[in-house]
Amino acid sequence: MKAVNLYGPGDVRVDDIETPAPGAADVVIRIAACGICGTDLTMVRDGSRRDGATPLGHEAAGVVVEAGPAAKGVRAGQRVAINPMGEITNVIGNGGTEGAFADYLLVRDAELGRNLIELPGNLPMSIAAAAEPLGVGLHAVNRSGAKPGEKVVVFGVGPIGLGAVLWLKDKGVDDIVAVDLSPERLALAERYGAKTLVRADKDDLAETLYAVHGREYVLGALCAGTDAYIDAAGAASIVSTVIGLSKLHARLVVPAVYREPVPIHFGQMLSKELSITTSIGYPDEFGWVVARLGQDPDHFADYITHRFPFNRFHEAFTQAGQREAGKVMVEFDA
Ligand SMILES: [Zn+2]
Repeated sequence: MKAVNLYGPGDVRVDDIETPAPGAADVVIRIAACGICGTDLTMVRDGSRRDGATPLGHEAAGVVVEAGPAAKGVRAGQRVAINPMGEITNVIGNGGTEGAFADYLLVRDAELGRNLIELPGNLPMSIAAAAEPLGVGLHAVNRSGAKPGEKVVVFGVGPIGLGAVLWLKDKGVDDIVAVDLSPERLALAERYGAKTLVRADKDDLAETLYAVHGREYVLGALCAGTDAYIDAAGAASIVSTVIGLSKLHARLVVPAVYREPVPIHFGQMLSKELSITTSIGYPDEFGWVVARLGQDPDHFADYITHRFPFNRFHEAFTQAGQREAGKVMVEFDA
């Protein structure tokens, strides 16, 4: 079978390797779709994390083709989404021993409802595969505590930030401002519920927020009426921007991956009692997301901006690295 491996910085190869066989508690899945993640791009830029080949791919869905006798609740023929963080013994992608950019994937200690989620009805495989990045966006929204009637800013509307916009809207939060450099990404954020779009390189964020979220004052200092900020961009200036703009008891959630330390001016933050926290993965959200996608697959179809067959993997990977790209999906022998 074919499988994608990383060997060093920029050195990604589609290898011919042996098809895996399941142990007693394992299953083998024929992959139908696997999304390209920002993590994959970072891993390729930095080089291999394991000795030798590092398998890539962790946003996947497929069909179980073989199940060991001790696999829990899983049988051949089931259509499943793979939770690569489901407390499993093999980390999938992300530097683990298996990767889902492969014709077949071994999932060790398989358990339905934990590391494998059965797909509802006719949920298309590519949309099911998007449950992983959408779960990351939903967890960031949950961590923000945003409620209907509140006003929220999302910095960076690539796949994670776009997911945050989409779930905010889904939860009844209507007053969403999306900030990005890319007009293509902003247009998609509008499609999924952002009411106001801010071009980070052109528009004045502060003036925009005063206009659409209102002016408030903390100890006489002007600030924006925004309740919560989600930083899915990871630009170094964002934290200080939010500290400057935030009103009393505003919240900032950071799902973005920062590679360098960022200074925080606690003196400027003092009067605002701003809460800052991070968010990672989808500790409770994965199954919920798959169920929600199954209720209305068409609504989520535009979340995927590009689709490539597996035999054009390198093109797909190049596309995912473009600034305007949303979620790039690799599809297997459709
Ligand atoms: Zn991912």
